[in-house]
Amino acid sequence: MSEQGPTPRIHVLDPRLANQIAAGEVVERPSSVTKELMENAIDAGSRRIEIEIEQGGTRLVRVRDDGIGIGEDDLPLALARHATSKIESLEDLEGVSSLGFRGEALASISSVSRLELVSNASDDPTRGFRVVAEGRGMEARVAPAPHPKGTSVAVRDLFFNTPARRKFLRTEKTEFAHVEEAFRRQALSRYDVTWVLRHNQKTVHQLPAGDSAAARERRIASLLGKNFIEHARYIEREAGGLKMSGWVGLPTHSRAQADQQYFFVNGRVVRDRLVAHAVRQAYRDVLYNGRHPVFVLYLELDPDVVDVNVHPTKYEVRFRDSRMVHDFLYSSLHHCLAASRPADASADDDALPAVEAPTAGADVAPDEPTPRWQQQGMALGEGPARHPGAERVRRFMQGYQALHPDHEESLLTPQPPAEQSPQPHQVREAPVAMPESDPTSAPPLGFALGQLHGIYILAQNAHGLVLVDMHAAHERIVYERMKNQMARQGVDTQPLLVPVSLAASGQEVATVESEHEAIASLGLELDVAGPETLLVRSLPALLSGADPEGLIREVLEELASFGQSHQVEARLHALLSTMACHGSVRANRRLTLDEMNALLRDMERTERSDQCNHGRPTWTQMSMKALDKLFLRGQ
Ligand code: ADP
Ligand code: MG
Repeated sequence: MSEQGPTPRIHVLDPRLANQIAAGEVVERPSSVTKELMENAIDAGSRRIEIEIEQGGTRLVRVRDDGIGIGEDDLPLALARHATSKIESLEDLEGVSSLGFRGEALASISSVSRLELVSNASDDPTRGFRVVAEGRGMEARVAPAPHPKGTSVAVRDLFFNTPARRKFLRTEKTEFAHVEEAFRRQALSRYDVTWVLRHNQKTVHQLPAGDSAAARERRIASLLGKNFIEHARYIEREAGGLKMSGWVGLPTHSRAQADQQYFFVNGRVVRDRLVAHAVRQAYRDVLYNGRHPVFVLYLELDPDVVDVNVHPTKYEVRFRDSRMVHDFLYSSLHHCLAASRPADASADDDALPAVEAPTAGADVAPDEPTPRWQQQGMALGEGPARHPGAERVRRFMQGYQALHPDHEESLLTPQPPAEQSPQPHQVREAPVAMPESDPTSAPPLGFALGQLHGIYILAQNAHGLVLVDMHAAHERIVYERMKNQMARQGVDTQPLLVPVSLAASGQEVATVESEHEAIASLGLELDVAGPETLLVRSLPALLSGADPEGLIREVLEELASFGQSHQVEARLHALLSTMACHGSVRANRRLTLDEMNALLRDMERTERSDQCNHGRPTWTQMSMKALDKLFLRGQ
């Protein structure tokens, strides 16, 4: 046995040390102090909360509120550990609606800083008391000090007595950035409170209270930038005791980092794995790889069915029925994003002249009640031979209809009006309540004028110029059709007259062997004809016109890299997306005006058609106003 000293005796830690240890969990940096103090101010029912920061918060964090205040007798207790006014029993904890309940924050903070609290619970501004905690026993000293109704807590010299923790503090700029982020979260959680943030005597944010939609959007714009709100869609949905509302960024407005993602559960900001997963799933289909969506979302539910006592900083929550919450979030967002298609609204334009359909296809009886933009397709469907581009139309139609055996949905035949009218681009409305379409009005994307370098379609609508990326738009349309078709009936297979033999790598051969079922479910029939040869026997009927080699290589590669993925649907959709890319109009393909118009009409009918399968935008609008600006007209 090695030599040992006497067995150490067990002793109770002095309160300051115990608090300092507890502080390790909640007090990481000035922003965590700010967060705890702001939460206390909210819990006190404040209407105005002012935050003053010096030197990134390392020198001073002061939070001043006009809440209920703390009575003289309670003051020493406010700084004591495990002392709270917010819960009394375990039952209270289960349905807790205040942000705090652990009774630890002030005790922890005061053990690692110089904390001073001044409060007045009466309406007499000459009254009030100051308290500071001192010494190892942390006994509190109370003395009179006038203060208007409410509370001010000043935290100076954070970690002055804990050098090990001080070392982890970063530059003033970085620390303040964290403080500002904490402020943003809090200010986004309570629109009915006026918020002020100052740094080194300069006002950084001043946000007046206001709960109207316009006031909320103003606040979001000043906290997250105008861009955010301009590219977001308002969502509101309620089901089964759950309510979600807020703003979700359009997929084309994604970011390189996962900042600007705010999720509140009953007013508490959370970063929850379940929430993150549901959001990721919902955007899966529409987001460019590696990009992150932006959102400010509020979930409200009965406090009894969510446990907030999971983590000391309370950033995580636990839902009693997590499956249901996940499904609710996913389906609400999915729905909202699916509604992103061209629509007839552009905020900045007033009355502009109605658009006349261009001449092609307009040769229909003038008193016919059918809207012009439908007549357009009608005329073409009746007799493409009348048009100069008839032969090309016929060829294009054949190609297109090979992709869409469902004749009624074909690109160039007349369509009944969409059951759901296109939704205005940025109208803040629940996606479930789509406005009725006005059948006599011009279509949202207007009428084609021509093609630019074989890549873009130029069109004219009520607001001005519409530019469409032909390939991206078509890709989305094909993809959505394939998904619908697959959901309805599975993929149709078409055997090849003569099987095509394909030189393949060992990896590709192995994939064919191991992923047989997935391959078959895609309507592909592949055989292994040798260690380095594959035989293509059948192709999806949808794609009989496509290049089989490129298609199969990409399908196999995707199958191989998805590995043991469980998300069959995700996999199928991703594969469909690859297929759609192969099956859609390539750049440099000449289209007639009728073909272009048919594509525009298809976009208007197709869900998610505002962005291609990779999340790139499919179209953009240049308003007359914007064009006038370009040419300095009327200035
Ligand atoms: P908790 O918030 O978990 O209760 P804290 O240590 O943050 O614990 O605060 C302790 C108690 O001090 C609170 O329960 C509350 O009664 C009182 N308190 C703290 N800050 C304020 C404030 N700004 N206004 C009124 N009371 C406050
Ligand atoms: Mg608290």
